[in-house]
Amino acid sequence: MSLNDTNPFEAAMRQLDLVAEELSLDKKIVEVLKHPNRVVITSLPVKMDDGTIKVFTGYRVQYSRHRGPYKGGIRYHPNVNLDEVKALAAWMTWKCAVADIPYGGSKGGITCNPKEMSSAELERLTRRYTSSIVRDIGPFKDIPAPDIYTDSQTMAWLLDTYSEFQGYAVPGVVTGKPISVGGSEGRAGATGRGAALCTREAARHLGIDMNGATVAIQGYGKVGRSVAQVLREMGCIIIAISDSKGGIFNQNGLDPVKVLEHKKRTGSVVDFKDSTYVANKDLLELDCDILIPAALENVLTEENAPRIKVKIISEGANGPTTPEAGAILHKKGVMMIPDILANCGGVTVSYFEWAQNLNRLHWTLDEVNQKLEQKIVKAFNDVLEISTKRNISMRLAAYVLGVSRVAEALGVLGLFP
Ligand code: NAD
Repeated sequence: MSLNDTNPFEAAMRQLDLVAEELSLDKKIVEVLKHPNRVVITSLPVKMDDGTIKVFTGYRVQYSRHRGPYKGGIRYHPNVNLDEVKALAAWMTWKCAVADIPYGGSKGGITCNPKEMSSAELERLTRRYTSSIVRDIGPFKDIPAPDIYTDSQTMAWLLDTYSEFQGYAVPGVVTGKPISVGGSEGRAGATGRGAALCTREAARHLGIDMNGATVAIQGYGKVGRSVAQVLREMGCIIIAISDSKGGIFNQNGLDPVKVLEHKKRTGSVVDFKDSTYVANKDLLELDCDILIPAALENVLTEENAPRIKVKIISEGANGPTTPEAGAILHKKGVMMIPDILANCGGVTVSYFEWAQNLNRLHWTLDEVNQKLEQKIVKAFNDVLEISTKRNISMRLAAYVLGVSRVAEALGVLGLFP
């Protein structure tokens, strides 16, 4: 999906209309699916380090609880607004259904610029936000997780504040928290691992040998770096990697671990030894087998789509392909693995984390990775089957799968009263 559309929620609803048409969905069900169940908007006064008070706006949109408790990340960003949070909450609903995990969908956000705030200010903001939604979240109600510019530390503050209100520790109220307070092994790299597993399944379907397949990766954050490492373990040759400062290229392959060490040392992948510079826009058009956009929205557009040469695109990022580019690439025969499938590994391991918390268990990394692989392979093949049977794109097929599962739940639950 494209977040650059003037109104992301309207874009999400246009997508829902397409799916409803494909599925000949009952209009009454579509009407319910077009509305978030609950929207919380809250003013958050925070004492800043210089003694002034700033009032931020926070949101929590609880879209659907038809398949289970609400589940969705919390984003801190200057562009956060109600329509964006509503759209993201709808997409979380379909994503959890595609992954076939027992959750509905939600999303939260605070309009703020975390890059201009101290850690102490972010902590006060997070605790105030938590206190204002304390009655709305909970391990059986709505389980937040990290998203853009929030991380395991943010989740630890949220967990601590929520537990303080309850009077006892409630680790299952958030996922993506540090392992020391109930986080799961493998959560940090789960999104990238899921995207790599989807890529392997796509290659298998297309008869492409992963051993020696060439890969370009845009973005070397949490998703990009883990997808690189897992694809390399699968035998792929990572020929290009980029971050916000630019990209690096070596036809014979880059070592993902060494590139990460270089980035940690210097702040960027650029100037890594034995590599030449490649601009971000050129990286997308490289002659290779697999492309992983793992940074920004709307990088594959109507303009550059005709020049894309890869056979498989696995959308680690949310919304990297505009609808127009998606249509061009589908026509060209590129196997597009859409975001709600390609990056559902993160929420899948979040589900494992929650299940461990509720059962007071701690699984090993091997157990987590094995269970993740089973879930991802199943989700990929479910979507592929729909795409083949209905002769529709993998993207539409993923939405068909997600929306039809939610609609089915809604159908049997019925309406109250
Ligand atoms: P991150 O902040 O850890 O990393 C983002 C990376 O993108 C960084 O390396 C940054 O330098 C790079 N980048 C920024 N601007 C760029 C530009 N103009 N060109 C190239 N690279 C640029 O974020 P992340 O968690 O890795 O998330 C990346 C994408 O994946 C986002 O769209 C996010 O919504 C999506 N996603 C993440 C998760 C998760 O579990 N982390 C789950 C689902 C989806």
